[in-house]
Parts: sequence; structure tokens; C-alpha cells
Amino acid sequence: MSKRLIMIHDENKCIGCQACNIACRSENGTPDEVTRLQVRVEGPFGDAPNLHFKYNRVSCQQCEDAPCVKVCPTGAAYVGEDGLVSIKAEKCVGCMYCVAACPYKVRFMNPETKVADKCNFCKETRLAKGELPACVTACPTDALIFGDANDPSSEVVKILNTKPSYQDKTHLGTKPRLYRIPTKRGGSSHEQYLGRYGAI
Ligand code: SF4
Ligand code: SF4
Ligand code: SF4
Repeated sequence: MSKRLIMIHDENKCIGCQACNIACRSENGTPDEVTRLQVRVEGPFGDAPNLHFKYNRVSCQQCEDAPCVKVCPTGAAYVGEDGLVSIKAEKCVGCMYCVAACPYKVRFMNPETKVADKCNFCKETRLAKGELPACVTACPTDALIFGDANDPSSEVVKILNTKPSYQDKTHLGTKPRLYRIPTKRGGSSHEQYLGRYGAI
């Protein structure tokens, strides 16, 4: 059976330190003006003195039914044999159709290469060498877990079988491969709340 690579962001373990963001920028040489990854700090929620924040990972969801791939007129946005949504730089004409089509607003034009860009699970720089994505390795609290959802013995499967999880905007039919373990302390951004319940 082929692999189904997924990532989990555990909102209970995340402390919003941005180590993942910094590691991603370093790994991928991302120009200052753009980013493949953000951890947005939302809140505070609750009542003083028991305030808390929620940490929202914003990055490509590696959709299994990806709108960016459907609209690309040249085949530059494509799904590889590994199932990951990737980009053939030589085919990108910079039309930005894919940027407009991404419902998660995580796709952008790289101002240096003039090619569409986004998180690719560190496919070429890390996965090809049998290494974990840079953000996963850099996380000091193990809030990011990466693996094969088709392998019953994988950590990601064990986590999804034992903890509640959600994905963003599932009503769109995009089948995101970024899963989230919701914070037990509550708190949700307006957009996430609406997205989760199908309002946007
Ligand atoms: S999140 Fe956006 S860029 Fe990533 S696969 Fe889905 S539509 Fe494409
Ligand atoms: S998987 Fe790689 S490209 Fe994607 S956010 Fe993590 S470090 Fe960045
Ligand atoms: S490195 Fe881990 S704890 Fe820090 S912001 Fe990223 S996911 Fe959260």
C-alpha cells in the first residue's frame, strides 16, 4: 500500500515559540517577505488570572483533493507519486491562479524565484534523505508529529486513534492532511470556528 503522509499539530503541546517557523525559513531559504509556515497566536481566552492562548499552525494542508492543482493551467502544480502536492518550477508561468484558488491562503509567489511556493513537507531537502521535516525536528515540545497514516504501527495513527482531532474547512472537500489536536483549554479563532462548522 502506498504511503499517506500526514502531519499532526498538537495544540496542547504547542507553546508558540516559533522554532518551527525559524527552522522552516532556514531549511528552505524562504525570502523575508513570505513564509511557508506561521504559528498564529490567538487569544487570550478565559478569565483573568486564568488566561490562555491558542496556537494555530498556518501552512499548506497537503490537500488530497487540491484546488491549487485543479486550476493550474500548465501542470506546474501537481500531485507526485508520493501523494504530495508539489510544484514543477520550470512549468510555472506565474499566473497565480493557484494562489487565488487555495482556500487556506497559504500559497504565495516566491519573489526571488517568481515561482509559486508553499510547504512541501520538506520533500526534497529532508524526506528524500529519510529525515523528518525541519519543523518537526526543531519543535522543542514534540507538538508536531509526522508519518504515514497508512501504517497502522505509526505514531500518527496511534495518536489519531487515541485523541480527538480535527482538520480545517473539511466541508470544502479538500481532504487536508494536516490534523490538529484541539486545545483542552478552549478558544477558537472566528475563522476556524466558522470553517469547522461549514459556514465558510
Ligand atoms: S492548502 Fe492550498 S496550496 Fe496546499 S494543497 Fe491545499 S489548496 Fe494547495
Ligand atoms: S514541512 Fe518543511 S516546508 Fe513544511 S512547514 Fe515544515 S519545515 Fe516548512
Ligand atoms: S516549534 Fe513546536 S511549540 Fe514551537 S511554535 Fe512550532 S509547533 Fe509550537
